[in-house]
Amino acid sequence: MSRQTDHSDRNRFATLAVGSAESETHPHRSGTNDVVPPIHLSTTFEWASGENGNEHDYSRESNPTRAALEAQLARLEGGEYGLAFASGMAATSTTMLSLVPPGGHVVSSDSIYSGTEKLLTEHMAGHLGADIDFVDARDPDIVADAVNADTDLIWVETPSNPLMRLCDIQAIADIADDYDAVFGVDSTFTSPYYQAPLELGADIVVHSTTKYLNGHSDSIGGAVITDAKGVFEQLAFAQRVGLGNMLSPFDCYLVARGIKTLPARMEHHEKNAMDVARFLESHDRVTRVYYSGLESHPQHDLASEQMSGYSGMLSFEFDGTRIELEAFVEGLDLFTPGASLGSAESLVEVPSLMLPDEFSRSEDSAETPETLVRVSIGLEDAEDLCEDFRTALP
Ligand SMILES: *Cc1c(COP(=O)(O)O)cnc(C)c1O
Repeated sequence: MSRQTDHSDRNRFATLAVGSAESETHPHRSGTNDVVPPIHLSTTFEWASGENGNEHDYSRESNPTRAALEAQLARLEGGEYGLAFASGMAATSTTMLSLVPPGGHVVSSDSIYSGTEKLLTEHMAGHLGADIDFVDARDPDIVADAVNADTDLIWVETPSNPLMRLCDIQAIADIADDYDAVFGVDSTFTSPYYQAPLELGADIVVHSTTKYLNGHSDSIGGAVITDAKGVFEQLAFAQRVGLGNMLSPFDCYLVARGIKTLPARMEHHEKNAMDVARFLESHDRVTRVYYSGLESHPQHDLASEQMSGYSGMLSFEFDGTRIELEAFVEGLDLFTPGASLGSAESLVEVPSLMLPDEFSRSEDSAETPETLVRVSIGLEDAEDLCEDFRTALP
């Protein structure tokens, strides 16, 4: 059986994203028949006992708007349980704090989001004495060599930021199974639309909903989805009782709203990204394009096998001096220089100019070229995006 999600699954995904298939059983259907879940701002719910007992008592522990989003997130990833967090970092930190004991062992890809890297080095290792091995997770054998019987967690991000490196999720899931370690995948760069890590054997999927899931640059949030009841219970307890880092009802509403158009947006992001990647690949002032949809990407075959599309993130190496690079960024009109990704508007980020501290200390900084430009391709017209680059490139 092909590991790739096929097109009919994607049509089915669109139905799940809109959510109409679930509306009959949805709690918001009762009473006023709203077609979207209302925003329940109440912090508390009148206590009742026995048969009249409430599903929700206090909104830190559970809230109807959040519960509706969490069920929707679980359906999209094909998982049993979903949790909505106050940020992507809240989702990641709660996962790590819940699953890794003081002095525990984590094997992490060395190509990960800078916040995750700091969480691992400063908090997990620095405060809790965890032992963290950062490895080149493009090669599953290197991961296998680092994992042992005491490993608590294996962590990867695929595709990764900003070098668009991939990990073979199924191969690493097999390693995690052999050693009884929990395997988590940060799948933010594809959204649930283009990659289904749980189907490939991961135990946990994490998203920054700030990015594609919300998709409109107006909500910070995170999500964890899992099939493992024990993992879910540990995470839910940590989130709801001790850490209290849940997503607010208003943000839950925004993310649920964003999800309805996720399939349509992802198709458009990808189509635009492919056009821009091809354009950049043919430009003389571009030395190299990092986009898993291009045949020149060293892991293009793995991308085609494990993802059902290549998403909308790409990086490229600019051929020129630092001064020319700055002038190029300033000359862009449609691409806004800034952090974040996955929204309607195209963004450009140059790690060496915009994140100098992270650039100099990141694990893969040695491999991140000084003239690397990371681009989040938005939903504008592809020809206009190419034209903006054509005008700004020297
Ligand atoms: C943005 C991002 C995060 C962190 O999410 P926040 O919502 O900013 O806390 C984690 N992983 C990846 C891959 C990201 O792009």
